[in-house]
Amino acid sequence: MTVSAPRVAIVGTGVIGAMTAWQLATRGADVLAFDAYGRGHDRGASAGESRIFRTVYKEGVSYVPLLRRSHRLWRALEADCGRSLLRLCGGLTIGAPDEPDVSAVRRCAEEAGLPHEVLDAAAAAERYPQHRLDPGEIAVRDPDAGVLRPEPSVQGALDAAERHGARVLSYHRVEECAETAAGWRITAEGQTHEVDHLVLTPGPWSPHLAPTSGIPVRARLITACWFAARDVPAHQPDRLPIAIRRHPDAGFSCFPVLDGVAVKIVPHHLGWPELEDPAALPRSAAPDLARAASAAVRRLLPGLAPDPVRISTYAEGFTPDEHPVVGPLPGAANATVATGFSGHGFKLAPVFGQIAADLALNGGTEHDITPLDPRRFAPAAARR
Ligand SMILES: Cc1cc2nc3c(=O)[nH]c(=O)nc-3n(C[C@H](O)[C@H](O)[C@H](O)COP(=O)(O)OP(=O)(O)OC[C@H]3O[C@@H](n4cnc5c(N)ncnc54)[C@H](O)[C@@H]3O)c2cc1C
Repeated sequence: MTVSAPRVAIVGTGVIGAMTAWQLATRGADVLAFDAYGRGHDRGASAGESRIFRTVYKEGVSYVPLLRRSHRLWRALEADCGRSLLRLCGGLTIGAPDEPDVSAVRRCAEEAGLPHEVLDAAAAAERYPQHRLDPGEIAVRDPDAGVLRPEPSVQGALDAAERHGARVLSYHRVEECAETAAGWRITAEGQTHEVDHLVLTPGPWSPHLAPTSGIPVRARLITACWFAARDVPAHQPDRLPIAIRRHPDAGFSCFPVLDGVAVKIVPHHLGWPELEDPAALPRSAAPDLARAASAAVRRLLPGLAPDPVRISTYAEGFTPDEHPVVGPLPGAANATVATGFSGHGFKLAPVFGQIAADLALNGGTEHDITPLDPRRFAPAAARR
């Protein structure tokens, strides 16, 4: 008797859907992956030259096992797709010792017994003169942090998935997902496809896709700004780690030069405005944001020319508690959802792809995903 492979559809091939496709295809599933745009496009959450990988996690010690697994899976994907995706150049969290993110990284490192180093302002200034610290500030160094390349990661995962037999349908917007007696019927580009299981990874488009519209994910606009380095070698990854900077005047993530010209910063301190529809993503920054980013650079990154040479905008899906939603889709059979990565999902994408594949093929996973359960946002009565 021949047993046919389970047919699994994935809606959305940003980094989470791409990793799910890779994981499912390597396990022999019959994968059909849809995206409204092309592979590695820049309209959603998974583009923009660089992403931070961190192991000492301010978001909570419960992520540490997922980060460790993710690290191994990044290396496995590099081997499978033949591209270099993650460079461990170390990472800094800089600010006052009692600043919430600075104390959270120290707490995480201590609770999980992770290697880290605490530098006072003088030691940090000597080792990392690219950053200006105020007296009394500290830098917490995570040696197992680094920089990921988003576009090659998405493309590499999809290419590897295809080599393992997946079908990737770019420029196929899914119009309808209808539950049937045996699984799901997907309609895209006027064609229907019957599958056994559905994985929903629509990122910031979650409110616009019927099966995920009940999950409280909102799209937000995140802007990245690039500033030319005066001394390029001093700002490359062998000398400049990734950094999260917290300061009363500004807050940003900071990425070393990867294009031979400029350091990227993503300002945090002005908040990330809600976007009604990611399809209407504004392609340039509000002047206030550009001015604030310039002021932050002038004050805290003395080796950069303080006028941005490039600005790009992206959409990301946020949940109310800023932790992702990963689990079986409430109220449906044979469907898994992984969305709402709230500005920190890229580094974890391989393990979330593995978890989505576990749920699709086995109905469960060895990883503890209780805190990410989609039902945590439902009224108490509906959860019982
Ligand atoms: C500027 C920025 C900086 C960030 N920095 C970091 C960082 O340093 N480190 C980190 O770990 N994380 C970071 N993040 C977060 C991380 O990048 C995201 O959490 C992650 O990329 C989310 O991926 P996704 O697949 O959920 O969403 P997306 O990449 O947006 O993918 C969703 C996909 O679904 C498709 N889709 C939606 N609806 C349909 C439909 N009906 N039919 C077909 N396709 C559909 C879309 O076209 C899209 O391709 C950052 C995010 C941004 C925006």
